[in-house]
Formats: sequence, structure tokens, C-alpha cells
Amino acid sequence: MSECSEGIAAIGKLRSTPAIIVDWAGGVAEHDQKDQQRNTYNRDVNIVDMLNMTWEFKLEPTAEQVCEIERTLEICRQVWNFALRERKDWLNSRKCPINACSLRSEYILACDQPFPGYHRQAKSLTMAKQEIEHLRSVNAQMLQQLLRKLDAAWESWRLKRSGFPRFKKSGRMRSFLFPQMLRNCVSSEGIKLPQLGLIRVRWSRGIPDWFRIKQARIVRKASGYFVLVSLQSDVEIPAVMPHGHPVGIDVGLEYFLATSDGEQVKRPRFFNALHRKLKLLQRRLKTKVRGSNNWLKLQRKIARVYQRIADTRKDWQFKLAHHLCSHAGMVFVEDLDFRIMAKGMLGKHTLDAGLGQFVNQILPWVCFKRDVYYGKVDARGTSQECPDCGAEVRKDLGIRIHHCHACGSIKPRDVASGQVICTRGQRGIENACGVEVTGALVTVSSQLALKQELFGVTQGISNRTVRLVG
Ligand SMILES: [Zn+2]
Repeated sequence: MSECSEGIAAIGKLRSTPAIIVDWAGGVAEHDQKDQQRNTYNRDVNIVDMLNMTWEFKLEPTAEQVCEIERTLEICRQVWNFALRERKDWLNSRKCPINACSLRSEYILACDQPFPGYHRQAKSLTMAKQEIEHLRSVNAQMLQQLLRKLDAAWESWRLKRSGFPRFKKSGRMRSFLFPQMLRNCVSSEGIKLPQLGLIRVRWSRGIPDWFRIKQARIVRKASGYFVLVSLQSDVEIPAVMPHGHPVGIDVGLEYFLATSDGEQVKRPRFFNALHRKLKLLQRRLKTKVRGSNNWLKLQRKIARVYQRIADTRKDWQFKLAHHLCSHAGMVFVEDLDFRIMAKGMLGKHTLDAGLGQFVNQILPWVCFKRDVYYGKVDARGTSQECPDCGAEVRKDLGIRIHHCHACGSIKPRDVASGQVICTRGQRGIENACGVEVTGALVTVSSQLALKQELFGVTQGISNRTVRLVG
């Protein structure tokens, strides 16, 4: 019990810190499997028994350290490409039919050659180290971690969750991970890393004492080098229980979101200015000789604008999430798969708006931090229902106003679906009594809803689309 109350005090402290958490889910993904299991949400007692966070800090490396980082990235890239080649060769060797030889693909490996899985590759890496000197000069665990990452990418391709892992061109490897950190690696001057030594860090916020530093990932971005520190704490935090004022949120492209309280939030205008800048720079790129110094300079400039857009978007979304949470005790969203939406006609705008990032990463995290209940509801036909009388109101999706013939209510379409989402969320809580509110049937329903939504958007705001492009 005392542990639990300590946990509440801890999260209270955490919830009062106003800073920005970089990536709530990302940090978890790279932990060991054991960690992942422990990190699961414990349904029986409604307690999150371990807190993982990833915080991002800017590094201020010296010139030598930059060289060392770049050298490490290059070695990582070579190891990645070699290991991927090995796997791909094995795969190609299995493609030939047994009873015939094709001209295109032959058995290029022995037919009883085992598949080069993670353990096999890690073993051969250890052996390769004895012969190749530059492999010895980088952290051993780091390279193992890389092989593990490749294994995960391979698995996810095998399970049809993502595409085939790619070979990386020179300069394409952007990060590496130190999977184990010393206990006292952090000081006011900077962070102590294996091989790289002490690197100065711009500590934009203090790391609380009750967090252990588990891992550190060095990332190269357009605006410099960063370190992503994975923090872990054993505090037990009771999961947020449904309480307070409920708000349903409908996200879309015409308005970024609409709440059941009638608030409609547009995409901020500063994106347009940044996109204009981007377009200008990209147009200028054509006049430069590919690969020349000026071309490279311009490329770097473009990369910085891209990062600026991503950073501002994230900042804006965090502020928006906090704004929503300060007026609500429960937040409900539709259970949509944004990856499907991004493949559609308006893919660019979907990605640009960052809807998935907002709904699936930032909003849940801010809700958790602000003690607001977060629930997902079935997305089927949220826009075809009247929030006031429950009658079915068929709307062609070009129609942006909800007008119910049964009860006569008139309101903006997005607000109406926000209210439907809100009602569904509340009903879900009543039925399930605090257990998850998801309308578990993700696949079919969300795809259907999505198709409708896409269709509607193309009809309704085709003139607006032009403006979004800049
Ligand atoms: Zn009605």
C-alpha cells in the first residue's frame, strides 16, 4: 500500500512538470522482451506497474566526438547491410522449384543451410570480430542490438505488418543504441557513453532521482546530434478511472478536430508558411548540379525545414492535447487506422496533419499525465447517426452540416459525430464498468468508416485542398 501511495506521489510530481515527453511508445519498443512483458498494463488491479519514458536532449559534441559518432554509424550501416544480405540470400536460395532449374534464381546456398536468425548472426559477428579490426573498435552490445533490430524488422515483414527491411545507403543510418548504461553516467557536464566518453548535453530539464537510466540512443538529425534517454521507474501508478466531464473527439482533415462541446480546431496557419518555404527551396534544387557542394547545402537546408515542420507540429499537438485535457475528465476518440488513410488519395495531407501521432501517441500520454480517462470507441457510422435522437441520418459526405429530420437538430457535421463518439464512449463505460472501452473490432469497421471519410473529404473540400498545399 505504501508503495502504491509513493507511486501516486511520484506521478503527481511527474504530472506537475510541464515539459514535453518525446516519445512514450517509442522507448518501449526497443527494450528487451522481458522489459516489455513487465511494462504491460496490469488489468486485474488497474495498475501500471512500471513507468517507461524517453526524453530527448540536444548533444554538444566536440569535433572529434562528431567524427567518432559518424564512424560508428558507418560501421553500424555495414553490419546492417551485411546481415540483411545474408538473410536475403538465404531467402533467394529457397525460391527455386525443387524439380527444375530456372535461369533467374538458383540454389546459391546448401539446401540444409539453416536460416541466419538473430542468434546465428550474433555468433558469427563475434567470430568476425576476431578478424576484422574496426568491428572491435565499437561497443559489442550496440552491434548485437542492431542485429536484434534487423530481426524485429524481418519479423514484422514476415507477419505482413510492414515492408521489407531495406539496405541503407551511405549516410542513411541515423542512430545507434547503447543498451546498457552505467549507474552514474549522467552529470551536470554531460553524459558518459562507452567509447565516446563524456559528451556535453544541453540539459533542458532535470532527470528526477527516482528514474533509472536504462538505455541511450544517439540520433543524428538535420539540426544536430541528440540523445534519447530511456528512463525507467518501478513506481506503481493506478490507471486513470473514468470520471468527470466526457468529451468526444472527431478528427479529420477539414478541421483538425471537433469536440462534442462544439469546439472546432483548424489546422494552424504556420504550416502553410513553412510549406511555402519548402516548395521554394525544392524548386531551387533543380538548378543545382546533383551532388555538388551547393546541392548538398540546399539539401541540408531542406532537411532542416522538414524537421522544423515536424517539431512545430508536435509542439502544437502537445499544446492542443493539454488544452483538451484541461476541460475534460474523459476523452473518447474513434478507433481508426490512419495507416490505411495515408495510403489513399489524400495521403500527403493525412501524414502532414499527423493525425495518427496525435490520437495514438500524444493524446493518450497527455491524458495519462493529466489524470484524464482515455478511451477508444467503435468508428462505425459515427457520422451517420443523430447525436440527439439516435436516428440514422444518411449524409453524403460532401455535406458538412448535420440536419436531422426526426428531431430537427442542426449542427456542424464534425461536432455531431463528436457527440456520437462521446455517447458511445460513455455507454461503453457503463457496460464494461471501467474495463477498456475499445470497440475491439478494429479492422473492418475502421476501414469502412475511413473509406467514407476519405470519400467525403474529396468531395467536400476539394477547393480547400489546394490551399492546404500552400
Ligand atoms: Zn435527431
